[in-house]
Amino acid sequence: MNTVELKAKICEAKKETGTVILAHTYQDPDIIDIADITGDSFFLSKKAAEIKAKRVVMCGVRFMAESVKILSPETETILPVPSATCPMAEQILPERVREYKKENPDSQVVAYINTTAALKAECDVCVTSSSAIKIVDKLEADEILFIPDQHLGSYVKEKLPHKNIVLWDGFCPVHAQLTAEDVIACKNKYPDAVFAVHPESPAEVVKLADMVGATSEIINYAKAQKGRVIIGTERGVVDYLSTHEENGERFIQLAPEKLCCEDMKKISLDDIYKAIKGEGGEEIVLPEDLRKKALVSINRMLELG
Ligand code: SF4
Repeated sequence: MNTVELKAKICEAKKETGTVILAHTYQDPDIIDIADITGDSFFLSKKAAEIKAKRVVMCGVRFMAESVKILSPETETILPVPSATCPMAEQILPERVREYKKENPDSQVVAYINTTAALKAECDVCVTSSSAIKIVDKLEADEILFIPDQHLGSYVKEKLPHKNIVLWDGFCPVHAQLTAEDVIACKNKYPDAVFAVHPESPAEVVKLADMVGATSEIINYAKAQKGRVIIGTERGVVDYLSTHEENGERFIQLAPEKLCCEDMKKISLDDIYKAIKGEGGEEIVLPEDLRKKALVSINRMLELG
């Protein structure tokens, strides 16, 4: 079956089974094409809850599928490739968070949304990359443990010097590879371009940016510019912008050899088709007590954000 035929089969199978396809913007253009909803990870889980989806296939990594399940326990949620996980989401163990809270009873634990459901269940509040500064600022506690991403954490810490933010040493293995030299080389090649970057990147890279934001914020910023934009995040974003905008060549991928998330790219159209047909993938199941505890942290994020 060629790609066009497979896409047609997927669309047919979606209708037959009442399946909604959610796709993170980092996915390949062919997957974005057959998706019903695309966007950042938390946006996708909120949307699935809003439309009360009966069945979803989440084209992303495991923590994203777990977030859908946390918000929509009745929704059958399928991760097409079970081994698609975000390495950063598990860079601290839930037991370590419990110990830290015992050792530091006045401290609050803030978890980036890119964490497992088990970690969300142990923390006090979740944050997204776009809401982190606002939410941490609003917390009553001044003593904060920020998990797991040291780079997003240090970005928040720099903006909120009145808070004592302890950073965990986790990182996104994709964005953490970026260096100031990568940016300078790209800026030298495109001196007229502005530079937008994701805050999962190291501070030396963030310092050189004209704009720092979450994936959807980078997309909106890039669209609003008239000229060239250097994009400092996973290369799916440039694919997305280039295929959805006229004049797509004005979006310049920073360090394309580094900015590719292997886990996000594990999913193929064939995997999606099998998942819809019930012949592949994994249905996400969360213990109800864990799901409810994780939901408390997400609800607190929604209240504060
Ligand atoms: S890009 Fe980084 S944070 Fe996002 S899924 Fe991949 S490893 Fe995880």
